[in-house]
Amino acid sequence: MAATGSPELLIVMDKDSTAAQVEEVVARLAEAGAHARVSSGRDGTVIGAIGERELLAGLPLEGFPGVEQVLPILKPYKLVSRELVADPTVIEVRGRRVGGGFFGFVAGPCTVEYREQTLETARAVAASGASMLRGGVFKPRTSPYAFQGLGEEGLAILAEAREETGLPLVTELMDPRHVDAVVAVADVIQIGARNMQNFSLLSEVGSVGKPVLLKRGPSASIEELLMAAEYVVKEGNEQVILCERGIRTFERSTRYTLDIGAVPVLKQETHLPVIVDPSHAAGRRELVGPLARAAVAAGADGIIVEVHPRPEEALCDGPQQIPVGEFGAFADEIRALVALMGNEIG
Ligand code: PEP
Ligand code: MN
Repeated sequence: MAATGSPELLIVMDKDSTAAQVEEVVARLAEAGAHARVSSGRDGTVIGAIGERELLAGLPLEGFPGVEQVLPILKPYKLVSRELVADPTVIEVRGRRVGGGFFGFVAGPCTVEYREQTLETARAVAASGASMLRGGVFKPRTSPYAFQGLGEEGLAILAEAREETGLPLVTELMDPRHVDAVVAVADVIQIGARNMQNFSLLSEVGSVGKPVLLKRGPSASIEELLMAAEYVVKEGNEQVILCERGIRTFERSTRYTLDIGAVPVLKQETHLPVIVDPSHAAGRRELVGPLARAAVAAGADGIIVEVHPRPEEALCDGPQQIPVGEFGAFADEIRALVALMGNEIG
């Protein structure tokens, strides 16, 4: 059921509370027109009560058997907050995992340009141990005269690449009119930086049963990113991966400024997995390796990087794409660091 209203209370159940006691609280909340989100973690069961503040205040929740304490959720974001769900969310896509110690290694072309370009890249990244394939077919371009992507024709190429390599697909959705076409093929739906606050698009992907990769807007605060994720989760889709991809600052020597500090902050604030896109942050391929390694060391749950067979011929973002021939060495470094962090590629 989609949550309505704003979740206001955390009902912390006693360590020894029974399933029946949890059900009783949930039933009383339902009777009062509120929705309950139960999360059972290592530290016991917590129920987030989602409903009208006044209505919840009228329930004598503290007196219920098994209830240890009732607390307000203080953060503006509720469902995505660590207050509500203490354990990390692990997102599973076709047997590959992201979050909770599983490192998502997403690689592929910026843009699906033609069949061989995408298949060649897909084979190379699969052989070097990437866990998912990225590739845009609906491209957000600054110039209306630039290549806008292959659209549905590109989706068919991606599907073929998945068929051959087994890698799940990550691709961007820009327009609610393309939801059906994208959802039919994508395994993970990317919401790009420019659409991070496209609230109707966020609600739309909140109602589909596929994971969402939500990129931080170039001028969005961390709180705004979390509020955007809340829009998706509020509709019932709890499978959201957050992505730091660089923000706009006064600095011009990199395309954007990778906010590496956002990684530990987000990990503190939310149970959702947090990945980093060093490619768009860097804008130049020689910086992608160092930024990717910084992301792993900062505790990111994954990276998403651009790879192309011949970057000098790329229709989009050539300077930042790693040539296929250099991807193996890049992947070896990432794998070693992921292991050093005590994690594994998911
Ligand atoms: C992309 O990943 O293809 C992309 C366009 O990135 P961003 O939305 O972060 O600019
Ligand atoms: Mn790109």
